[in-house]
Amino acid sequence: MAADWVDRQLRERGIRDPRVLAAMRAVPREAFVPDDQSEHAYDDAALELGYGQTISQPFVVALICQALELQGDELVLDVGTGSGYQAAVLDVLAERVVSVERIPELAESARRNLAATGHDAVEVLVGDGSLGVPELAPFGAIAVAAAAAELPQALVDQLAPGGRLVLPLGGTLVQVTQDAGRLRVEPLAAVRFVPLVIVR
Ligand code: SAH
Repeated sequence: MAADWVDRQLRERGIRDPRVLAAMRAVPREAFVPDDQSEHAYDDAALELGYGQTISQPFVVALICQALELQGDELVLDVGTGSGYQAAVLDVLAERVVSVERIPELAESARRNLAATGHDAVEVLVGDGSLGVPELAPFGAIAVAAAAAELPQALVDQLAPGGRLVLPLGGTLVQVTQDAGRLRVEPLAAVRFVPLVIVR
């Protein structure tokens, strides 16, 4: 079979989790990019979403999903819904997905994108995702799509025992786990993300 974009952009660069590769094939990325960019939907790049925000590069979405090590039975928190694309991929990989977006207009269009692709089980909330969603915690996995300068303590606190938090810390995507109360921070890749906005 001819190599497709999943082979070229993901598998050949080290994404090996078969569930992640299948999920990336299953979610139609063109349904999440603005109409005027649909011809670029499968480009190896981040794309503009409006409001100064971007839909992440497919490889970065896959890398985050792989590092979350999802088995299928998790409650997942997705911070920074944006287009809803990452949330849709997580919906294929986990039991339940709750996603938080700070910009109400983006949350609304993400809900439409998710409904149009059959992923309306994803709950999209408007708010400051750096605070997590304490009333639903603990989460088996937490994905963050905006760069923080420091580890948001609320997210660490809302991780279930053995849970994985994957986020861009400065310019590095990291996987954070807790082992007997000790934090382990594993670097994954150099990345560029829009900033995580913290409103105080
Ligand atoms: N996962 C998205 C990527 C969106 S870019 C996708 O697949 O399309 C990052 C998003 O994080 C932006 O939409 C931005 O508005 C949002 N964001 C930034 N800071 C935030 C915060 N503190 N709480 C919630 N969302 C935030």
